[in-house]
Amino acid sequence: MSVHDLQRRDRARIWHPCSQMKDYEAHPPFIVDCGRGVWLYDVEGRRCLDAVSSWWVNLFGHGNEDLNEALRRQAEKVAHCIFSDFSHEGAIELAERLVALAPPGLSRVFFADNGSAAVEVALKMSFQYHRLRGDGRRLFLSFSDGYHGETLGALAVGGIGLYGEVFRPLLMETVKVPSPDCFRCPFGRERQGCDAPCFSAMEACLAERGREICAVIVEPLLQGAAGMKMYPPTYLSRLRRACDEARVHLIADEIAVGMGRSGTLFACEQASVSPDFLLVSKGITGGYLPLSLTVTTEDVYGAFYGDYGEGKAFLHSHSYTGNALACALACRTLDLFGEGVLEANAVRGAFLEEAVRSRFEGHRHVGEVRRLGMVTAVELVEGPEKRPFDRSRRMGHAVYRRALERGVLLRPLGDVLYFMPPYVISEEEILFMVDGARGALGDVLA
Ligand SMILES: *Cc1c(COP(=O)(O)O)cnc(C)c1O
Repeated sequence: MSVHDLQRRDRARIWHPCSQMKDYEAHPPFIVDCGRGVWLYDVEGRRCLDAVSSWWVNLFGHGNEDLNEALRRQAEKVAHCIFSDFSHEGAIELAERLVALAPPGLSRVFFADNGSAAVEVALKMSFQYHRLRGDGRRLFLSFSDGYHGETLGALAVGGIGLYGEVFRPLLMETVKVPSPDCFRCPFGRERQGCDAPCFSAMEACLAERGREICAVIVEPLLQGAAGMKMYPPTYLSRLRRACDEARVHLIADEIAVGMGRSGTLFACEQASVSPDFLLVSKGITGGYLPLSLTVTTEDVYGAFYGDYGEGKAFLHSHSYTGNALACALACRTLDLFGEGVLEANAVRGAFLEEAVRSRFEGHRHVGEVRRLGMVTAVELVEGPEKRPFDRSRRMGHAVYRRALERGVLLRPLGDVLYFMPPYVISEEEILFMVDGARGALGDVLA
C-alpha cells in the first residue's frame, strides 16, 4: 500500500487528536511504517527524527530490542487480567521498585492506564481523604497555565485556555494562582539560585483559603504544555512547607517531567521534596503502552483502610488497570535506567544545550534558550521586550512544517520550539536535529 493511498484512507475515516482536521487537506499525516532508535520511517523509506519522543513518552528509542523482548515474553504468559482480587508478579515488582525509587514517604501504588486518569485518581483520593476525616473541604489549587490532561477533572485543574476554555461551564470550581514565569520574571531574578519571590501569590492563597483546599497540584520544575516553562526547586520546597502548614496535600504531576526528563529520575528530588501524591505515566513503559501510577503515602492509604461496612474504600477502577504487558515493559524500562542513563544524559543534555545555544542564540527572533535535564526549549518572540508573535501567525507551526521537510519531527507549543528526544540519541543525531530546526527557522524567519 502506497503512502498516498494510506493517507487517503486515513482522511476518509480518522479524526486525529489535538488537530484541526482541515489542516490535513494541505498536510496529510506522515504514515509510520516502523521505528528504530530516534527515527520513524514511512513505507517509502522517508524518515524523520523524533525530537519530541512521540509526545514525551519514548525514552530508549523505537524498536528497542530489550523492550520488545520483555513484551514478547510477557505476551506468552498473560497479556491482561482483572486486577481486583487478582494480582501478578509484574505489578508487584513494579510497585516495589517505584516505591524504592520515589522520594521518601511514598509507599502505596494505585494503577491506572493514562496520565489524565492518574490525575483524577489523585484528586478523588485527596478529596475523599479529607471527607473521611470529617473535613468538608473541596477545592483544588493549581497554576493558571498548568496542564494535567484532558478529562474534565484534569481540565478543571489545568489552565490553558486553548484546551479547556470551551468546556469551562462543565468544570468544577478551582482556585488558580499565576505560575512562576522565569522568562518574563517580574522580579528580574535569575532562575538558578533564585529564592522564588513569585511564590508570594501561592503563599497568600494558601494562607487565605487553605482550609477550603484539598490539594495543590503542580508540574514540578517544568510546565510542559504551557510552553516548557522552567522554574527553580526553591519554589517547590517553599510550596511543600506552605502545604504542610495549611494541611493541604501536594500532588506532583511528574507525568511528563518524571522518568529522568528533568535530569533526576523525579524532578521533586531536586528540591528534596516528598509530595503526598506522585503521578507517573508517559515514559514509564518506555513509550510502548499506556500505564499510569498514583503513588501515595501511608497516611492517605490508612485513611481508607477499615472494615467493609465502614464504606471507606476507594471505589475507582479502569478496565485495563494493572495491565500485565505494560507492567512488564515498565519493569524492563526501570532495568534500563540501571545502566548509567542519568549520568550519560547529563553529558548528552549539556551537549544538546550547547548545540542549540550556538545556533539559536543571537537570532533576533529568539527570546531565550533554556534547558532542564533532557529538555531544551527555544522561545520565539516577535521583537524586542520579549513581545510574542500574534498567535494567528502560527509561527511555531510554520517552523514545524519546514522542519518536517528536513526530516525532523518537532511539534512546537505555540511559538516555543523544544527538543525532548529519546535518551538514545547520538551526538551526530543531535546535530542533525538542531541543524534541521535552525534551518527551518531560517526558512520561515530569514
Ligand atoms: C501528558 C500529561 C498529562 C496527561 O496524560 P495523558 O496520558 O495524555 O492523559 C497530565 N499531566 C502532564 C504534566 C502531562 O504532560
